[in-house]
Amino acid sequence: MSLSFLYSTCSIQIHQIFKISKFHTKLSGMADWDDSVTKGPDTCTLKCPKAAGKRKSPIDISPNHACEVMLPELQTKYNTEKIKQKLQNVGYCWKVVTEGKYNDLALWGGPLQGQYKLLQYHCHWGDNKTKGSEHAIDGQKYQGEIHFVHINNRYCSVDKALRHSDGLCVLGVFFNLGCKANPEIAKIIDVMNKCEAKGAEAKLERNVDISQIIPFSGSYYTYSGSLTTPPCSECTTWIVFEDPIQISQDQLDAFNSLKDGTGKIITNNFRPLMPLEGREVRLVRNSNH
Ligand SMILES: [Zn+2]
Repeated sequence: MSLSFLYSTCSIQIHQIFKISKFHTKLSGMADWDDSVTKGPDTCTLKCPKAAGKRKSPIDISPNHACEVMLPELQTKYNTEKIKQKLQNVGYCWKVVTEGKYNDLALWGGPLQGQYKLLQYHCHWGDNKTKGSEHAIDGQKYQGEIHFVHINNRYCSVDKALRHSDGLCVLGVFFNLGCKANPEIAKIIDVMNKCEAKGAEAKLERNVDISQIIPFSGSYYTYSGSLTTPPCSECTTWIVFEDPIQISQDQLDAFNSLKDGTGKIITNNFRPLMPLEGREVRLVRNSNH
């Protein structure tokens, strides 16, 4: 399906963009982090009625049980030159809010119907090598996981998107520790010292080239799930890439310098694994892989 077709079927009016802007703000602030979210088994369900269903995230992905499928190519158009990126300390993780036109933050193809827009990306990480990511592969966690949160262009308000099973799409990218600093993550680290306290924010001086962080050339798993922070709405198509990226110990140390609202270091900010509940996890192998 051509990009021009997608644009012609999704004409966005000015007032709708305004609503999305408000949605963006709400998504940024929707997860008033509560430590209990990370302390299983599922305290989120008690706090969020919307989390009581059967398509929760994150999950333990079993490659042997994933159903291998062919899907249209997953495509993006993140126009680094034309968007704004702002780092925020939201008290439970770092988050980069992305602002720009639909055409400059676009995701489509793969398991998705229609086009999505990138709203923000944020990170989950741990204090040691055995944990940090939200998803696991065969029970194994990675050091951390970056989530790229997109809204379906069909829905122009927060309420609508969160109420629909296809409201959001999140790309999950694992990371491990390696010898070299990741050059794109370095652009976030550049201003991280301005964001040590909860509520602080700083414009990125060098925009992250988002396409360089996401391992699009590799395989990915996809399934229907939920947000992993309150309100934990079951509105998310997950796309979790198989190949991890690498960041350096110094970069992880910078993440672990951020503080929450009580002055405590932010770390181990992941939700416990949730039951699969019979859902199908599909594996899309990239032919170049
Ligand atoms: Zn997340």
